[in-house]
Amino acid sequence: MSQPDRVMQTEIARTDNEVNTNDTVRRAVAALQAGEVVALPTETVYGLGADALDPEAVEKIYAAKERPHFDPLIIHVPHKNSLYEVAEVPAEISKTVTQLVETFWPGALTLVLPRKPIIPDIVTGGLSTVAVRQVNHPIFHRIVKNFGGPIAAPSANLFGLLSPTSCQAVEDQLDGRIPLIVDGGACGQGLESTILKIEPGENKPVIRVLRPGPVTEVELKKFGKVVFADKNADVEESAPEAPGMLANHYAPRETPLRLLERPEDFSPEEGKTYALLSYRGQPKDGFVDLYDWDEVSVLSPGSGRVAEAGIRFFHVMRQLDMLDVDEIIAEPVPDRGVGKAILDKLRKAAVK
Ligand code: AMP
Ligand code: MG
Repeated sequence: MSQPDRVMQTEIARTDNEVNTNDTVRRAVAALQAGEVVALPTETVYGLGADALDPEAVEKIYAAKERPHFDPLIIHVPHKNSLYEVAEVPAEISKTVTQLVETFWPGALTLVLPRKPIIPDIVTGGLSTVAVRQVNHPIFHRIVKNFGGPIAAPSANLFGLLSPTSCQAVEDQLDGRIPLIVDGGACGQGLESTILKIEPGENKPVIRVLRPGPVTEVELKKFGKVVFADKNADVEESAPEAPGMLANHYAPRETPLRLLERPEDFSPEEGKTYALLSYRGQPKDGFVDLYDWDEVSVLSPGSGRVAEAGIRFFHVMRQLDMLDVDEIIAEPVPDRGVGKAILDKLRKAAVK
């Protein structure tokens, strides 16, 4: 499945003016039609896209990322109604599905539904369900609309490493492995989509969050009872269905990371160097003045709090990983809103 590093030339296609954007859209669509993979900007993170209905094209995604085939891909549809071409929507949840699609699409919400036979096994890892989203990004939108069919696209990183939120971050990991990256600038949301499954429930629908993300519990609870997969008794049942939720993911490449619940838990080793990944950079949180850190990087230096931290998370992690320190020590972030998604990633990035 894996391929050697840097076997091809990777081109970067710009989108900084109308003329080159038109050309880039044409090139990306032509590449997808030719069964190639293309890295594409979205509002969450960069995706590595291919024709979702062409198993050979999809195989190139797994190869470039060195991603195991049991980890299924999200498919991205051109129109809201395209959902019904790729997934079955059971009658007992159809009202909720319609409400969620009308409220959050295009956007950072992925729905897991029974799949239609048109979806190849390689996309779903053989599961009976398929994960579907409509992206809210102007360049991606033009590409998927002109392509005219679903695009399978996981995050454009090597399996298990940090998700990319800029063209440069994609290049760092996939240069020489893919033919084309569409540079759409920095991603506006910075965290992967919220993934959920809907079940009928007794009094109201159950919204089972398989992966926390930018669409939060507060926004979802208008539509049903929100249950998080990791807090539920049937984790074992749901975990293999959302492999991105398993341990050891989102890890920095070079530098181990440790998440500390409390400042008192930190006991530095002599001769080692440490960087602090701080939530707000506030001494009153107890971490900033705890130690003579080699570097302090702040997730939310402005007043945006968890939302700002979410936008900056992968970018800041990448910068820390490029420093020459022995270990990254992370402060906890609040377990609410987008903070849930950040905490989830910090826990998975941490060395066990
Ligand atoms: P990525 O786009 O790289 O963030 O990865 C997509 C993630 O979507 C996978 O790791 C799974 O967790 C999730 N996913 C994709 N398809 C399904 C599915 N049919 N059921 C549950 N989760 C899915
Ligand atoms: Mg991923």
